[in-house]
Amino acid sequence: MREAREHGEGAAARRLGDPWRKLHDTGRGYLSVYFSDPLARWPVREITRPADNKSDPNIETGTYGLFSTCEPSMRNRIVHDGAATIFFLTTRKPHQGRVISGYYHVGWYTEGTQGAVNRDYALAADRMHFIDPIAVEDLAEPLAGICSAQFRTMKPIDAETVAALRSACDERPERTADYLGEVTRIETFARARSGYAYPSWGREAGFSWSDAHDYYQTDAELSRVPNSSKSRKWRCRECGYVIKSGALLKKCPLCKQMATLTPAEEGT
Ligand SMILES: [Zn+2]
Repeated sequence: MREAREHGEGAAARRLGDPWRKLHDTGRGYLSVYFSDPLARWPVREITRPADNKSDPNIETGTYGLFSTCEPSMRNRIVHDGAATIFFLTTRKPHQGRVISGYYHVGWYTEGTQGAVNRDYALAADRMHFIDPIAVEDLAEPLAGICSAQFRTMKPIDAETVAALRSACDERPERTADYLGEVTRIETFARARSGYAYPSWGREAGFSWSDAHDYYQTDAELSRVPNSSKSRKWRCRECGYVIKSGALLKKCPLCKQMATLTPAEEGT
């Protein structure tokens, strides 16, 4: 299969060089909530989310924010605060409620396509560990309270919480290979249905390190681009195409140019 993945060989198995820079770890971290795919046996990101196909957390490469524009402020804070550990939380319907599925220890960062001016940093893990999901209410206190508190997408956590959550995860067997297999299975399912693994991206294949070079920051003349569009419509300044998408995409689905989309006003 031509698009065979480098399974089990995310950033963790690589020493990333230019344009990646080493992240200094201060011990702090983040809880990050993501949508998981309702079709999946393991709680991988919601690849089939309608009009907003998810690419993060991108465990195939061990990256976050390289391919998507998700959570720019979290990525920015992680880089500036050395908050290197991201724990991933998601809601498993209908029975399990909020669970913790694993974590990244971020070892490297670089500017994304939208550049530092847009707080767009890509993160790469030097270690990741995904597990049999733990219902957050089953964690010991104070972790249960911290993880089940109301917050929408992300929350900074202190070094003590990071260490405690990390040992709770590290006690559990490594399931990352099962998660990776599930990403491939869901992409195959989506492709069979629509011809695309990521229809809202116009993307037939999954993601691998061979895609990364397109997503690095190369344009010194970048300006600020809003990360959301009220109309959920975006116009490409290269080809003029207007797309509908819940989130800003880094690559135009039609002409495949990078960092060309800006919010389109209603009625255009
Ligand atoms: Zn375009």
